[in-house]
Amino acid sequence: KLHNQVLELKGSIRVLCRVRPMLEKEKVAAGGNTESPVKVTSEEALRLTLSESKGGKDFEFDRVFAPTDGQDKVFDEVSALVVSVLDGFNVCIMAYGQTGSGKTFTMEGPESDPGVNSRALRELFSVAKERSDNFTYSFKASILEIYNEQIFDLLLSGKEQDDKLDIKQGSDGCMHVPGLKVESVSSTVEVEALIGRGKSNRSTFATNMNEHSSRSHLVLSVYITAVAKAGGTTFKGKLHLIDLAGSERLSKTGAQGDRLKEAQNINKSLSALGDVIQALQQREKHIPYRNSKLTRLLEDSLGSSSKCVMVVNVSPATENVPETKCSLEFASRAR
Ligand code: ADP
Ligand code: MG
Repeated sequence: KLHNQVLELKGSIRVLCRVRPMLEKEKVAAGGNTESPVKVTSEEALRLTLSESKGGKDFEFDRVFAPTDGQDKVFDEVSALVVSVLDGFNVCIMAYGQTGSGKTFTMEGPESDPGVNSRALRELFSVAKERSDNFTYSFKASILEIYNEQIFDLLLSGKEQDDKLDIKQGSDGCMHVPGLKVESVSSTVEVEALIGRGKSNRSTFATNMNEHSSRSHLVLSVYITAVAKAGGTTFKGKLHLIDLAGSERLSKTGAQGDRLKEAQNINKSLSALGDVIQALQQREKHIPYRNSKLTRLLEDSLGSSSKCVMVVNVSPATENVPETKCSLEFASRAR
């Protein structure tokens, strides 16, 4: 049954929505009125109250997670997809949403309550071990960041950085980044060490880590090669785990110069992502992958033979209603 679920999914994009809990400071700001304008009405729907005069709007998704739903529930929805990487599929799981909506919590999570990334890695290594009588698996990983339409290798320090990393398509149709450091890994612990290194390199690029992470896409990739012990058939799969840049719109005033350029580049890549997803869902012939670095990188992981899940994260706070509405509309367009 699981297998059928996975096959059905091929070529389509599942859109999940997660509403994070209200933060203490938001409760305080709401002056004890903790009623949220975002109400989860079923496992597949939510209602956003726009304002007293405008009323509410309903949205449907493949799955909606309420503030009380934990990391395990989210992972349950994506675990079959993760395992299919071991069967040679390319899979992409990404978190979308405005800054502060819970993207990093969903993907990375606190150490005490890990998110999709480490659960996915554990699952991959454990299923690979279960299958080790029949297959020999090898794992590699890379961590990159796309900032201002430029690719940075987070396994290298700032001064080792090659500023001309580009994306190429091999004759087999596979996308790769020549020169990107890709390291062999054989356990969750090793990948986590790699992630630690990536994080520390990332923080040296940025004077303000929070601001920086809201302006760049973080892409953790795991590459798998499986060789059948009988017959020697080889196949490859790839898993991208992506914490996207914040989707908040640029305020009409203020931003100038570098800030303006940054914001325009984020808008460009997120709308390019929306365009690609929409073209795929509508089975269009031409898919506009080339409009941004992000979509180009994902060309072999966001298409007819691959599988993708987008988790749209939203805030429950009244002050975030306009951005929440934008995120939900973006997500609806992706379905
Ligand atoms: P983003 O990465 O989208 O900017 P974060 O993941 O950093 O947002 O989340 C913002 C804040 O909300 C953090 O303090 C985070 O711990 C908290 N948070 C987000 N999602 C959840 C959740 N599902 N449960 C508990 N706290 C959450
Ligand atoms: Mg974040």
